[in-house]
This record gives sequence, C-alpha cells and structure tokens, in this order.
Amino acid sequence: MQFRTPWYKQAFRQVHMDFHMPEFPREAIRRFDARQFVDHLEHGKVAMIALFAKCHFGNSFYNTRVGHKHAGLEQDFLMETAAECRRRGIRTLAYYSLCWEKRAWDENPDWRWQDREGKTHGADQPWGWVCMNTPYKDELVMPQLREIAEGYPVDGFWLDIPIPAGGGLGPASLCHCPSCRAKWRTQLGIDLAAGVSPEMAMRLDMMTIEQYLTEIRQMIQETNPELVVALNVVGRATMNRRVKELCEIGTWESQPHGNDYLSHSFAVRTGRNDITDLQTMTVRFYQHWGDLTLKPTPQLITECASIIGNGGVVAVGDQVGVDGTLQPPVYDTLAEAFGFIEEREKLIAEAEPVRHVVVLLPVPDDKLPFVAGLANPRADQVIWRGAHKMLVESHIQVDVAYSALESDLSKCPMIILPEPCAYPKDVIDRLREYVRQGGTLVAVGSSLIKGGAFALEDVFGIRFIEPFSMPRPATPVMHFVPAAAVRGETADIALQLRGQTFKVVLDGAEELAAIHLPQAWFQPPQRAFRSPYSPASRERSPFPFATVHTFGKGKAVYVAASIFETYWRTCHHWLRQFMDALLRHVDPTIPYRVEAATNIEANLMSLGSDLLLNLIHYQIAHQGGREAISAIERVHPVHDIACEVRCNKVDAVVLEPEGRSIPYTFDNGICRFVVPEIQYMAMVRLKRS
Ligand SMILES: [Zn+2]
Repeated sequence: MQFRTPWYKQAFRQVHMDFHMPEFPREAIRRFDARQFVDHLEHGKVAMIALFAKCHFGNSFYNTRVGHKHAGLEQDFLMETAAECRRRGIRTLAYYSLCWEKRAWDENPDWRWQDREGKTHGADQPWGWVCMNTPYKDELVMPQLREIAEGYPVDGFWLDIPIPAGGGLGPASLCHCPSCRAKWRTQLGIDLAAGVSPEMAMRLDMMTIEQYLTEIRQMIQETNPELVVALNVVGRATMNRRVKELCEIGTWESQPHGNDYLSHSFAVRTGRNDITDLQTMTVRFYQHWGDLTLKPTPQLITECASIIGNGGVVAVGDQVGVDGTLQPPVYDTLAEAFGFIEEREKLIAEAEPVRHVVVLLPVPDDKLPFVAGLANPRADQVIWRGAHKMLVESHIQVDVAYSALESDLSKCPMIILPEPCAYPKDVIDRLREYVRQGGTLVAVGSSLIKGGAFALEDVFGIRFIEPFSMPRPATPVMHFVPAAAVRGETADIALQLRGQTFKVVLDGAEELAAIHLPQAWFQPPQRAFRSPYSPASRERSPFPFATVHTFGKGKAVYVAASIFETYWRTCHHWLRQFMDALLRHVDPTIPYRVEAATNIEANLMSLGSDLLLNLIHYQIAHQGGREAISAIERVHPVHDIACEVRCNKVDAVVLEPEGRSIPYTFDNGICRFVVPEIQYMAMVRLKRS
C-alpha cells in the first residue's frame, strides 16, 4: 500500500487509548504505572497508540505549564508512556481535544461556541463546545501543542473534534461568537448577524480548520518537522481537499452498527483512494466509546480481516480505567486479533489493490466538504453505501473514489456513477472522452440528470423524458423484465423496483431490460390490489429499464432507476443479481468470479508480479432490536469455495500466510482453483514468477 506517512507500513495494529477522565473519583489515576501499562500494549501486539495529552474535560495528562494537569495524576503520563513505548518500538501520537473542553468552557465565557441567538452548549453537558477562532487557540491550544512538540518523544498529534458540532456541518454548527463575527467581517466582509447560506456556513467551517491547521503545521516545522498530524473525521467525505492536504492521517470511525459489518470495507475501499493515510477505527466496546464492555474476540478478528483484507490499517479504541490501569482481558483479545494481523500485514503492506470498477463519487466543489452541495445530504450513508454493498456482495472488484481526486480516468476499466448528479462540467467532459477512448461507463437513475436535462445523452444513445411520478398516496413501484443475456440468477417473473424510476427512450442504444408499468397507481379505495405494490402490466412499456450503447471505442450503460438507494433500503436480492449479470455482460473482463454466498467479500491485489485474492468471511448472528449490534461469537469455517481469476499466466497457487500450494487449472487466461477453507480470511496468492 502507498502511504504518505513513511512508517505507516509498520503500523497496521493501532490502539486509540481514550482517557477522558473527570477529577471527582477519589481513586482517579492512583494506580497508573507506565511499565505495566506498556506491558499490556506489548502483550496486545500494539504497533501504534494515541496517548492522551488533554481530554474533553480539559484535564491534561502531562506536566503542562499552560494548561491544567489532572489532579489525580502524580506522574507525567504522556512522557513516561511515550518514552516506554519508544523503547519498545511502539509509535505514539499525542491526543488533544480541540473543540470539546469543559474546563476552558467553564472558566472562559468568551471562548464558548455560540449559535446565532447567542446560546452556548455545555452548561448541562459533560463537556462544552469551545471555538478555535477565540483566544482559546492562542492562549491554550497552540502553547500546549508546542510544549508537546518540543519536549515529548511522540511521532505526531491526534487531534479530535475539528469543529464543535463534530461531523455536523452547516448553519446549525457555525459559531457566532464575538471572535467569529470579527474574523469573518475582517476577512470576508461578512456580517454573521445578517445570516449566511448553508453553503457559506460550511465554507467558514472549512476555513477555520484550514487556518488553525496551517498554524499547527508551522509550529511543527519550527519545532519537530518529523511529527505527523492526524485529525478525526478527515478520512471521510465531510471535509474538503485542503483540510485533507494538511493532514497525513485521516481518521474514519467506521465501527459497525446493527448488523452492518461492511462499514469498514466501505471506509477502506474509499480511503485507499484518498490523499490522506486512512485510519480505520473501531472499538473494543460493544456499543459506545468508553462503555467498558468487551466484544467477542471472533467479532474483533472479523473486523480486522475486513479492514486489512481491503488494504487498511486497524485502530481499536480502548479507555483507561478510572484508577489509571488497563483491563488485562482486553489485551488478551487484542493479542489474538492483532496476532491475526501480524501474520498477514507484510503481504498487505507490499500489495496494491487492483483497480477495475470505480464508483466515482460526485464532488461539486473541492473547497467545500466533499458531500456538500449534494441534493441528498445522506448520499454517502445511503446511495454510496448501497452501490458498495451491491458490488461487494456480487464479488466484483470495486473501488470508491472522489471525482475531485481522480486525475486519470483511463486507469479505471469501468466507472459507475452513483447518484446524485453533482459533477462539475470538466468531469462530465472527461467522462465523454473516457468512453470515446474505450472505457465502460455506467449511470443509474439521476446520476447524470440535473435541471431536467440528462448530460451525455449522445454518449448513452438515449433521450430523457422525465422521472416517473405518482399521484399521492401511490406507493412507488415499477416492474422490469431483463433480456435473457442479463437475467442472471433472477426469477423469471416481472421484477419489482420499489423506488424512483426514470422515463427515457432509445436513440441508438440497445435495450437490455424493459419497464412494465404497474396495472394502476395504488390509490385506494377505487384503484387498489391486495398489496400496495401494484401488479405489473403484461405488456411491456415503450420505455427501457436498462440500455447499452457503443460510443467511440467504449460503452455506456444506463439503468433507469435509483437502484443503489433502493437496494440499500430494501436488500431486494434480485436487484443485485440483475446488476451482477448486467455488469459482467457488458464487461467480460471483470477480473474474478467467486462461487460463494454474499457474506464472502473478495478483494484482489497485485503483489509485485503476483496476484493476491483475499476472501473475507462475515459470519454474523441474528439481528435483534435496532440498537443491538449483531454479535459474532464463534466463526465456523466455510469450505470449498470455487474461484476463477483472469490472468495471463500462473506458476503456482499458494495459500498465505502458511505458503501451502493448492491445485489449479489454467486455461484461456483463466486460473481456476478451490479454496479449501475460509475461517476469517483466506489469502490466495497466484505466483507468476
Ligand atoms: Zn467562534
């Protein structure tokens, strides 16, 4: 894997050691012992750790001259622990809480974040929101960070809470304190009292972060240029390009909720195309940070497999106990989970993901947070996740990449445009050229429709008429019937799509599936059937559901439905089966097939001249209530998974890391083999000497 941080290749096993600690417990931090503390880390095979310099309560954990040191701490926690870690080869980052700080909030009313009416946030909270545009930054944050940079044996900073509202951006999070009013009046001539647009609010939030990060980087340059900067949230789509450029490490807290164990895969398949080094973060806790529960070891190993199998590094959140000690069973669990990583990380570090299908995420303006300006503000949580889930479950090699960071589209054999349509004009022009030069471009639903017009109609060989709209209270349902070549595993009946569909006509394209209209829009009491999802008309409509068109040397495929959003919402398997068949029909070069259930994820990497096929197994227990997280208490291996990998030659097929050869055949550019067993992850290496 290519990393910006030189030592990141040796840091696949990370712990984020929370130490938010109030001062009232009498036993607080009384039993801290640096050597015992680091003994646990070493036993747990930890390669990098974030250690607290200052917590949300405003307590510092080192001998600070400018801040407030935790009253229960006699030693210098940061110094002793970081030095002990360094002696044992463990990298460290100094954790510092920026915009959540109870003590600063209590003692300095003019440092508080304020909303437009002057309301603050913190009086009845465990911690308060403070503003980085106030003297809080100059009098406390910068001097403390400088103390650490000058005097502490750490490898960098881990900065938390970049803006007061955490990941939330927009007018509700924008600070209106006197310092902010003065700042934006001076810099931009903006009067906050008069109100700003949601877009401007996000620009101001981004500018705030860019400006303080620039100051922090300057301070690092002056003190210890080796230090790296990690900032929470920066791994995600809710930051802009400049903020990403100002950090080496971008964190993404992707711990599963409910039974959503693909959340890490989505983070890594996106983050491996980002400009920061991704820190994929989960927790050892069952639900929440600091709740001091411990998830089963097989659950944590599954999460680790999901992250490293896709090329990511793992960070696991823990919390120091009230008395300053760690819980030994946590490090027994980590020893197993991180031991699993340790045996495989050298291969992953040297491997690079093979690019085939790229889901190209729209970025309308790279000065704004990447998700800003999208008509659907939850696109990243719904539509993009739906596309990722559908492709991963189809065992199709997929990357997720921001359009603003992709300089050369010709390196992507297939590009899929999820919704919404928010590509700048230059990206639209590059997509036309991409198809002309031989690329395969797939658009769905409204991914090219904006302002009532379909961009690239000529490329797709269709004409757009309108979105289908139904009179209320009709329940949206449309039916489609695929052509035999793209029916795949779907049942031979009219297939339902319970979501938005679009009316287009052919203008040179070939139809691959037809729309069948409902018998009637469901409007009780007169026009009703047993189900609100009206049966399909027997006759096909004049409108295609899916089309393919040759343009230049390439192909353009259109699916006239919000199929990714619908799949995320419904999990209707026929939608995935149809898209699986459709994509393989239009692109016979998709690099592998895996005869396995949808709970096996595949990721293909190149390893020098070899190929590495990672097969990740998610054996998830039943889902309970919405708040519950499905446990993974035991994982029984699956057996005999037949695979095909396209390649031009192969000399041996070997299971890693054990190095055991397995039988294979090679015929017509396809290598076939059967993976005997997958417990958490199989790594199959196709040696091509
Ligand atoms: Zn402010």
